[in-house]
Amino acid sequence: MSVTEAFEKEKKVLNFIETIVEEDIKEGKNDSRIHTRFPPEPNGYLHIGHAKAICLNFSIAQQYNGKCNLRFDDTNPEKEDVEYVDSIMDDVRWLGFQWEGEPHYASDYFDQLYEWALKMIRDGKAYVDDQPQETISQQRGTPTRPGTESPYRNRSVAENMELFLQMKNGDFPNGARVLRAKIDMTSPNMHMRDPIMYRIIHAEHQRTGDKWKIYPMYDFAHGQSDYIEGITHSLCTLEFEVHRPLYDWFLDQVIDTKYRPRQIEFARLNLSYTIMSKRKLLELVQKGIVSGWDDPRMPTIAGLRRRGYTPESIRVFAERIGIAKRDNTIDVGLLEFSIREDLNKTAPRVMGVIDPVKLVITNYPEGELEQIELVNNPEDAESGSRTVPFGKELYIEREDFMIDPPKKYFRLSPGNEVRLKGAYVVRCENFDRDQNGEVTTIYCSYNPETKSGTGAQQPKVKGTLHWVEASTAVDAEVRLYDRLFSDEDPDGHKDVDFLSFLNPDSLKILKTCKVEPMLGSVKAGDKFQFQRLGYFCADKDSDNDKPVFNRTVSLKDNWAKINK
Ligand code: ATP
Ligand code: MG
Repeated sequence: MSVTEAFEKEKKVLNFIETIVEEDIKEGKNDSRIHTRFPPEPNGYLHIGHAKAICLNFSIAQQYNGKCNLRFDDTNPEKEDVEYVDSIMDDVRWLGFQWEGEPHYASDYFDQLYEWALKMIRDGKAYVDDQPQETISQQRGTPTRPGTESPYRNRSVAENMELFLQMKNGDFPNGARVLRAKIDMTSPNMHMRDPIMYRIIHAEHQRTGDKWKIYPMYDFAHGQSDYIEGITHSLCTLEFEVHRPLYDWFLDQVIDTKYRPRQIEFARLNLSYTIMSKRKLLELVQKGIVSGWDDPRMPTIAGLRRRGYTPESIRVFAERIGIAKRDNTIDVGLLEFSIREDLNKTAPRVMGVIDPVKLVITNYPEGELEQIELVNNPEDAESGSRTVPFGKELYIEREDFMIDPPKKYFRLSPGNEVRLKGAYVVRCENFDRDQNGEVTTIYCSYNPETKSGTGAQQPKVKGTLHWVEASTAVDAEVRLYDRLFSDEDPDGHKDVDFLSFLNPDSLKILKTCKVEPMLGSVKAGDKFQFQRLGYFCADKDSDNDKPVFNRTVSLKDNWAKINK
């Protein structure tokens, strides 16, 4: 740790959740235990917003010698799937965290929750309502107008017991009846106006099969699940703040211990140019707008991983954005900054030409190849160097040559000199064009005295180009990504569907790229800096014949510039 880092660390102020946790420890609350949980609903893949919640829950546990559970909130069998359960476990582990013991499932508690519901009926705290959903919604009133009591609210305990049992046995179709808590239809908090506890769903549940015909609502399941697991701090996003009185109320009805989980809300992560709703991400997948949940343009952890993000970069990002009490939107450039910063330190530099044009060195000996030594990563002294072949025929980037260049063009043009990175200075003597005017071959001469690193007096040239030797080059496919949405807040327009903001240029596939020989044997997930072009990650679509590279991020650092 450098002095500045140490200083930064010392100076670090506690966020408001750490402050609460430290106070609770000091006061000996819940025997000073710290136990958090990450509670995803398995109805989609995790996204970068979840990563923030994961980092928060697991790091609070780590910091205070506590535990963190993984709990699947599987109370909605119609939308949930094992594919999602598996992907969620993969993603949490990939981010670098391990939950306490086995994963938990809200469905493990269905029996206990049912018992608690019976207790509430017996205590006159819950009733079966026969009205349809729409009527119940209409009767809820508005924040300024109290709700109306259901005509079924004062049913006898015996009748409620009988009906609830029938609901459980599957005697009624979906939506025919619900179990509601009997609280207060005039409460200023709409969530306290006799909220629904159970609804009828005839569907196969991935874990409990067809055992249940009734399923608990989130509010009736969450606090009690926290309680059963011994959770001390139940961290959730701000939209649950208004649910907190209900969270506490349900616990009051069913338990009488001193130990209590406590719900604390923090601001969810919103990113510019990004949608984070699982329902909308699913829509992108189902409509084939993206290739799947792990499409590298998706804000999912699986997508970011395939794009080339590292777990470290995501954890650093989560740390950097911090924990707030008020909703805000983070510039997606900050996420890009975090991966660029990480890869700058760790990614080997390689040469790849994504839009190649042939360059022939006319005075270079025919058939000769020499090995040029190149540093793997100037940011990492231990990364060493490698050799790449150099010869008479090379590829350079098409945009690095101009027949008729503007004034400050420092790359190659007729009569002009540039250095080929790590090799020689070449001078453009001539070029060929096809009938469309497109340049097909550039002819240069070179000066054998100008080899890099020989210590000889060198001519001054303004441009240095990357290149790949033609006879040994490996064919590659490169996928360039841009933001999936062209609007800063695609989800924030009342009357316009988010899909109308799709960026038509979010994916550009280049199939005729040429890369240095070593890249012929990459494994999916290998990361490189293609010099002058950006950071690239080998894709799972790579095969023995042809590697495929995703551009993770370009080299240009917009965010740092803007924030200087
Ligand atoms: P949906 O998108 O379907 O409304 P969700 O994003 O809330 O659902 P869950 O699976 O319920 O999905 O979320 C699991 C946990 O992750 C919750 O504690 C939730 O508060 C947290 N979480 C979800 N989205 C974000 C976000 N954008 N930023 C921070 N935390 C989030
Ligand atoms: Mg949710």
